[in-house]
Amino acid sequence: MLTKFERYPLTFGPTPIEKLDRLGKHLGGKVEIYAKREDCNSGLAFGGNKLRKLEYIIPDAIASDADTLVTVGGVQSNHTRMVAAVAAKIGMKCLLVQESWVPHQDSVVGNILLSRIMGAEVRLVDDNFDIGIRRSWEKALDEVKARGGRPYAIPAGASVHPNGGLGYVGFAEEVRAQEKQLGFAFDYFVVCTVTGSTHAGMLVGFAKDGRQRNVIGIDASATPAKTKAQVLSIAQHTAKLVELGTELVEDDVVLLKEYAYPSYGIPSRGTKAAIRLCARLEGMITDPVYEGKSMQGVIDLVQKGFFPERSRLLYAHLGGAPAINGYGYTFRNG
Ligand code: PLP
Repeated sequence: MLTKFERYPLTFGPTPIEKLDRLGKHLGGKVEIYAKREDCNSGLAFGGNKLRKLEYIIPDAIASDADTLVTVGGVQSNHTRMVAAVAAKIGMKCLLVQESWVPHQDSVVGNILLSRIMGAEVRLVDDNFDIGIRRSWEKALDEVKARGGRPYAIPAGASVHPNGGLGYVGFAEEVRAQEKQLGFAFDYFVVCTVTGSTHAGMLVGFAKDGRQRNVIGIDASATPAKTKAQVLSIAQHTAKLVELGTELVEDDVVLLKEYAYPSYGIPSRGTKAAIRLCARLEGMITDPVYEGKSMQGVIDLVQKGFFPERSRLLYAHLGGAPAINGYGYTFRNG
């Protein structure tokens, strides 16, 4: 589905699929749980989902003769860390706008620390969470131009970039190839959703074999109506780009909003319990902003019997562990 698009390699190649046997047994053994380890996808600054997206965006940045990648996220954004790593790797400058998406977020440790070490110019801005186009980011783009630079604009989460959905179409194609090797197909895919292009790309990729409604999005934005609309519009745009030949509709976007409380970036008691359980049974680290919430969703849905017996589900582990350093106090006793 992607052969006509230029790809700049930033990842190691196909990511491993690991069976979470102890977690599955702990939850009653009625379903099989697997994780696709997108968190281990690259040697670039701890990796994560943004690299698959950026592989289809960076060729355009290079072709545009830009000299500075400019993007935006929260103070502990994984996305801005990934853009800083890619800028270093391809020899461009990097300007990161880091907004106050989460109250009291630590601006010295975790992702932002790594971005500073990688040489990015980090700008702290006191604006609240929103997945849309940010004024602070547009201002930063103008400023780079005003000082004689050549900016390349990457929106939050690399999502509403025209090529933002392509990377996770590739994820679905990769899973299909791995299913052949494994000798079975997955019944469900669980993905954490905020700015939307990860989920949207998967919808397009799995629509190829009619499994788009088996992609279960777990909202972590706490603004699910906006996130759902953004997933649908990115999916519809991406479907056209790859000439899918099927129209994706609103009902194809399954987005569960129950796990995002109390707000973006703040873990509930249930999220913290999920992070501990997964770490203690599998040694797999999930974070309080994203993957801890989707892991909470997996645990709760399995316990509620949402998945029919003997289902095989694939949890997409999208990265994000460096942010946990910003939550040291929360986990000070483990
Ligand atoms: N998981 C992690 C670790 C992330 O950094 C992000 C980024 O926002 C997501 C999930 C959600 O992905 P998306 O923004 O494409 O919906």
